[in-house]
Amino acid sequence: MLRYLGVRKQYSGQIALDGVDLDCPEGRTSVLIGPSGCGKSTLLRLAAGLIRPDRGGVWFEGAPLAANNLRAARLRMGYMIQEGGLFPHLSVRGNVELMARELGWPAERRRARFSELAELVRLPARLWERYPLELSGGQRQRAALMRALMLDPDLILLDEPLGALDPIIRVELQRELAAIFARLHKTVLMVTHDLAEAVFFGDRLVLMRAGCVVQQGSAQALLQSPAEAFVADFVNAQRAPQRLLAEAAEHMRPADV
Ligand code: ADP
Ligand code: MG
Repeated sequence: MLRYLGVRKQYSGQIALDGVDLDCPEGRTSVLIGPSGCGKSTLLRLAAGLIRPDRGGVWFEGAPLAANNLRAARLRMGYMIQEGGLFPHLSVRGNVELMARELGWPAERRRARFSELAELVRLPARLWERYPLELSGGQRQRAALMRALMLDPDLILLDEPLGALDPIIRVELQRELAAIFARLHKTVLMVTHDLAEAVFFGDRLVLMRAGCVVQQGSAQALLQSPAEAFVADFVNAQRAPQRLLAEAAEHMRPADV
């Protein structure tokens, strides 16, 4: 569904990605984790076509992303940037319905989809006409998530989507999202810096460091057989690594066995 081959990217001389090969299989959730600055957001920006690789390429559904197919590909992706990225001059509804409006969806269809998503992310009706500045960080994040899901995309790119939520809503939304992704057979590429969240969501975990993929595979493989000391250090720096291991075993899907 989404594939990176030999991707290298630098920003004004500084290397952000250094030869990344990565495959995000259809219908699965791949989770990028790793220290701040290791290139996670850059990988998502490349998939969304916001930036181009200096070397290598990004393939979407078997075709390299290029100027002539980017818009069509983009319409099949839902992308939630880090911090949400809502337009400040548009209300929640304006933000969420923006693309559907541009594509000419009738008002009724837009409203129905909006309400469905608001229920999903538990965004109460009194907030629907508010502007981003009038919302809390968690509310903004939920609106941004609705915007990413509005067109029912095949590929969902989420950059730390739940970071600003308080713990109870976060756990609830984690469960609901995981269920939706599985039920609708969505392909998801998600960034988090929370290993517990990665274990919860990830069919496949991709651990990065300094622009490179260090290890990818099931949560259990990563936790039990770390490929190098960095992986073990990263795991042990998390809260309750033993509990993570138990959860990874519990979340293992039949396909991973
Ligand atoms: P992550 O999401 O893992 O924290 P990023 O992909 O945002 O990391 O960034 C990777 C590296 O590239 C970092 O060192 C960051 O400082 C640098 N970087 C990201 N965006 C830019 C930019 N627009 N200009 C210059 N450097 C950037
Ligand atoms: Mg980032």
